[in-house]
Amino acid sequence: MKKQTKIVNAGRSKKWTGNVVNPPVERASTVVFDSIKEMKHATANRGNQVLFYGRRGTSTSFAFSDAMTELEGGAGCALYPSGTAAITNAILSFVETGDHILMVDTAYEPTRDFCDKVLTKLGIETTYYDPLIGDNITELIKDNTKVLFLESPGSLTMEVQDVPRLAKIAHEHGCVVILDNTWASPINFQPFEHGVDISIQAATKYVVGHSDVMLGTATATKAHWPQLRENSYLMGQCTSPDDLYLAMRGIRTLGVRLKQHEHNALKVAHYVAQRNDVDVVLHPAFESCPGHQYFKRDFLGSNGLFSFVFKSGNAKSLEAFLEGMEHFKMGYSWGGFESLVIGVNNVQNLRSATKWPYDAPLVRLHIGLEDVDDLIEDLDKAFDRFHQALN
Ligand SMILES: *Cc1c(COP(=O)(O)O)cnc(C)c1O
Repeated sequence: MKKQTKIVNAGRSKKWTGNVVNPPVERASTVVFDSIKEMKHATANRGNQVLFYGRRGTSTSFAFSDAMTELEGGAGCALYPSGTAAITNAILSFVETGDHILMVDTAYEPTRDFCDKVLTKLGIETTYYDPLIGDNITELIKDNTKVLFLESPGSLTMEVQDVPRLAKIAHEHGCVVILDNTWASPINFQPFEHGVDISIQAATKYVVGHSDVMLGTATATKAHWPQLRENSYLMGQCTSPDDLYLAMRGIRTLGVRLKQHEHNALKVAHYVAQRNDVDVVLHPAFESCPGHQYFKRDFLGSNGLFSFVFKSGNAKSLEAFLEGMEHFKMGYSWGGFESLVIGVNNVQNLRSATKWPYDAPLVRLHIGLEDVDDLIEDLDKAFDRFHQALN
């Protein structure tokens, strides 16, 4: 089945929807049973999408898990109240005290914080590695290395990783390969065809797509699914059926939204690239983006999120750029229908294993579904403010 058709059908088995188009919002804590036999059956079947108790899910969550599994591949999908919870629980499912993990240096900042502030406390060591390390990853693998964690492209700076190659080496050393696949969404990178064991989505972003729900998912191969699922259950992870319903609704338009985000963002990125005051555009579809060759080889498309670095500038001129925009709102997150902007004055502060090669500030744009001409006009004015503040 082709991708766009899957997007329409995913998770819509009659088992969950009955005779209507969408699954119900099934709210539950208590589930009641008619017999001891039924109760025992439900109790014993915790991996099998059987109604047991609200925390184990209802038809809304079963349908959404199925949808994500159908879109990303793999054998099952665990649900979490945020993307960050998906990341932390996926890692915790495969490590114990005394273990070591390899974390990409360009990881989402809260992922780093979890390694530095929580894993350390549990006696689990983290080594950060260059996203473009290639075969040299072998030298960082120790006897107690259990997890190789990737995020591709990297947060803010967009380095695209050679996922299949890194996964192959990790597997030769018995490591579990976890990928933060949020940028690609379940559409533009097929994790399990590239050697990944666990694929994470901050569904908060494009899956939900409307900036109104926090949600995370972790999809796993057949070999890793039981351990991931059981760990999530033991950690008490569960999600609200109302949020899942909105996420499910988001899925139906994910394909067309992404295409429009991609189209708009490429136009804006080309505008940014031809400006004299811009040093480099960090958009995976541009040759100027580190790892662009892996994007070309492995990805099915891009989206609305990219960054650029000024030729010169400082904290004050960056502030002038960011403040006073009409269409680009200042705010964290991305993946909704609206355009967003954030700026970072010193990228080096966010990494430890690699040297950031630029001195000037970086801006990250999320290009929404507005008319591109309005967005470019907004940026034109922001560049003017930037220069006024510099002079
Ligand atoms: C936003 C984001 C997350 C975290 O998702 P939340 O739902 O905000 O916790 C994880 N990874 C990436 C790449 C993200 O952009």
